[in-house]
Amino acid sequence: MLRLTLDMDDVLANTHEKLINIVLNDFSTTLTEKELKAAPLKELLHPKQLGKLKKIMNAPSFFADIEVKEDAIETVRALSSYYEIFVATACMEFPNSFKDKFDWLARHFNFIPWTHIVFCGHKSIIQSDYLIDDHTKNLYAFKGEGILFTAAHNKKETGFRRVSSWKEVSELFLPIV
Ligand SMILES: [Mg+2]
Repeated sequence: MLRLTLDMDDVLANTHEKLINIVLNDFSTTLTEKELKAAPLKELLHPKQLGKLKKIMNAPSFFADIEVKEDAIETVRALSSYYEIFVATACMEFPNSFKDKFDWLARHFNFIPWTHIVFCGHKSIIQSDYLIDDHTKNLYAFKGEGILFTAAHNKKETGFRRVSSWKEVSELFLPIV
């Protein structure tokens, strides 16, 4: 069975959307939702706001209630019949996220056993045939075939095969039945 590894933030989980909602509701900004969705927050926010956001992300419970991306659960469940599924999240930057992320996976993806969950720093450690991730730095570090999941911060990247939704992931990886 080929091994398929999935990133969490902005692949399984709609982390960017939660950040945008925090900016819209709690920050002082003239930016609209549309503008916030169109470009990386790094390019849109003041450094002070970015610092504030980073603190919020490292607070316990930030990751607990993030929405699952549309069609992710059904697609990953279907994929698990054909591939050995791993989840790999480079979460060492946010140590307070560990328990939230583990519980989140248990709640939404309870068919993925704990033996197939990897909390890591550098994704070069991942040994897998495929990795679906929204950050090219993770795909460049990875030895197998990297698939780029579209996000606001990677729209200009051209170096990898791209998917923009879980429907597209299922088209790419699932046989026609
Ligand atoms: Mg990610």
